Amino acid sequence: MDVVDFFGETVSRNFRRHPRFTRGLLRLGCAVQQRRLGAKRVDARLPSQIFLEQLSVRSMRMALSQPSRLALVNMFAPAELLHAMGLHPLCAEGFSSILSGGKCERGFLDYAAEHGVPETYCSYHRAFIGAVLAGLVPKPRFIVASSSVCDANTNTFRTVAAHYGVNEFYIDIPYEVTEDSVCYVRRQLEDMVRHLEDGMGHRMDKGALMRAVRNTNASVEYQRKFIGELASRDFTNYVAAEMHRILVGHNLLGTDEARTFFRMQYEDIIGSSSGGVERCVGMHAHKRLLWCHVLPYYVEPLKEILDFSDRYTLLMSDLNYDQQVSIDETDILGSMARRLVTNHFNGSVERRVASVTRMAKKLRADGAVIFCHWGCKHSNGGAFLLRNALKAAEVDTLIIDGDACDRRGTNAGQFATRLQAFLEVLNGQSA
Ligand code: SF4
Repeated sequence: MDVVDFFGETVSRNFRRHPRFTRGLLRLGCAVQQRRLGAKRVDARLPSQIFLEQLSVRSMRMALSQPSRLALVNMFAPAELLHAMGLHPLCAEGFSSILSGGKCERGFLDYAAEHGVPETYCSYHRAFIGAVLAGLVPKPRFIVASSSVCDANTNTFRTVAAHYGVNEFYIDIPYEVTEDSVCYVRRQLEDMVRHLEDGMGHRMDKGALMRAVRNTNASVEYQRKFIGELASRDFTNYVAAEMHRILVGHNLLGTDEARTFFRMQYEDIIGSSSGGVERCVGMHAHKRLLWCHVLPYYVEPLKEILDFSDRYTLLMSDLNYDQQVSIDETDILGSMARRLVTNHFNGSVERRVASVTRMAKKLRADGAVIFCHWGCKHSNGGAFLLRNALKAAEVDTLIIDGDACDRRGTNAGQFATRLQAFLEVLNGQSA
């Protein structure tokens, strides 16, 4: 039994009777993983990718270690405001991904089902609710969620808030992308600042907010430059990195560490970091693959095909393409409101379709995989519209179903067969 299997089994065996012990074990697991990643180069990961994983694991550990600074959030909670108040956001989807990575999500999914959460509900949210109800997640100082993208947010955070007896701060993002919507969200962000200040008992430090804003603007600038380079180069990548990037590009945006990551990632692609040159520069006739939505990073054949591949470049998930919005220092809340409203996941599915199609053209994608996550109306609902638009842009597309969190929800064999067949067609086209 390997160490991850052992960890998963120990958590699964203990969490019902010993939730505090299990929480400690999870923190310890994060600390060990962080040290392990820092100690040696374990494989072909680039410096930015090692830093990325360390950062992601560290943020989980910090959030679980300091309940008085813990904010339970979804992906689109305005991160800079939280960081400016010295809070540690713990994202529902990111937390469940860590459970899944530690092979212990199953117990929490079952626990949620025993407490009435339907099995048709998104497994990220189901595992998170299970972990909360089981006592694995400490009582937070704040709960902040937005209605962006995902209708599960409403029910999940309401359930979690009732469980802890903590007031939820909910940001309603209008469907319509208009100036009125931006003003409406801006007013809510003003309320959010007051809510955080009341809860913490002190005013928001303007210097800390400005620092967070400048970190975000620098991160966005590095990300734009990285994407500009990615359009003309191959870049070594792996499935799990795309998932870690979602966390850093959303909930950790505004931190010094996120800024460092985006700088390092840019340095890696232009080859100025150690080890970056030989693995990043140049065009190697790779087939270039875009990914739409989350990635089932536990599916071994998927990793065998795509991780550090010398045949395919896993370009980017559209979940990592949505936050390229600079913040105007003279209207911080207005800019953050605009970022939420204009996000390509907000509003009609046509907005996302148009944005992903532009992304595919910019990154010169040969193919795209649209992953339909079980229970996710968002990813399932627009899949065929997205496929048609990509096809019209001459990007071959595979729609594939599965579950990116619950390991029982994806048939690895079938997944591999379909992906291989798709890639063979892609390869055949250049023959
Ligand atoms: S996978 Fe879909 S339902 Fe689940 S958290 Fe993401 S957007 Fe929401």
